[in-house]
Amino acid sequence: MPPTDHSQHDAGILVTSPSKPTKVNCWSCGAMRAAHFCQQCGKVQPPAPVDYFTFFGLPYKLNLDTATLEREFYSLSRHLHPDINAVSSTREQEWSLEQSSQLNDAYRTLKDPITRTEYLLRLQGVRLEEQSQSATEEARRTGAKKAAVPPDLLEQVFELAMQIEEARMNKKLGEPDRTLELELRDTKKHLHAKYDGMMQELHTAWNEWDILVERARDGSNILEDDRLATCDKLLDVLNRRKYLQNLLRDVEEVLE
Ligand SMILES: [Zn+2]
Repeated sequence: MPPTDHSQHDAGILVTSPSKPTKVNCWSCGAMRAAHFCQQCGKVQPPAPVDYFTFFGLPYKLNLDTATLEREFYSLSRHLHPDINAVSSTREQEWSLEQSSQLNDAYRTLKDPITRTEYLLRLQGVRLEEQSQSATEEARRTGAKKAAVPPDLLEQVFELAMQIEEARMNKKLGEPDRTLELELRDTKKHLHAKYDGMMQELHTAWNEWDILVERARDGSNILEDDRLATCDKLLDVLNRRKYLQNLLRDVEEVLE
């Protein structure tokens, strides 16, 4: 049954799309303006405290057309740039600076797939420094330390750590070990393939999230359990990806 009161699933849950930022009248000419500047007279408008998705008038979806985002960014940049508004009053210049910096932050955060996902999770109230629920449970079960090694890397990690250590020592002493080097190059290739697989996993989790957003948009009630489970999946992929990225960085460093 669709909920009659939309605020029910809006409360603290950012699944539903905020739609376009509210249009109000321009402070200068009184025309109906776009959110950030007036479409009639071009004047910069006072900045509103909105999240980055809302700033661009986007729904809280993770699949995002970055080409469109880029076009929107450049178009807004032109209107909001402090240089363009240099002849304006001090108040307008301040707005222009503030809007421009908000625009830059929003664009930088949303264009990158990882920072976009992290940002959305923060909006969902997820604390990123914490392990995902499943990873924490796994760590508890196996008695491992909090920074749990992704299960699919467990076998490799210990040996790899020793190899990296050895390669570092060799490098320091200027005594290269060809066999070890070849092994590490092989591992690097393997880890890269794994990394690509994780990005695939991330996209699958994105799709799952976006379906929730669409369902909420259509007026369906989103179960809190579904929302949390999807957030947890996203967080889990992010954590494993970060672990793998650090590992790759270490391997690449000794191979340089
Ligand atoms: Zn105006």
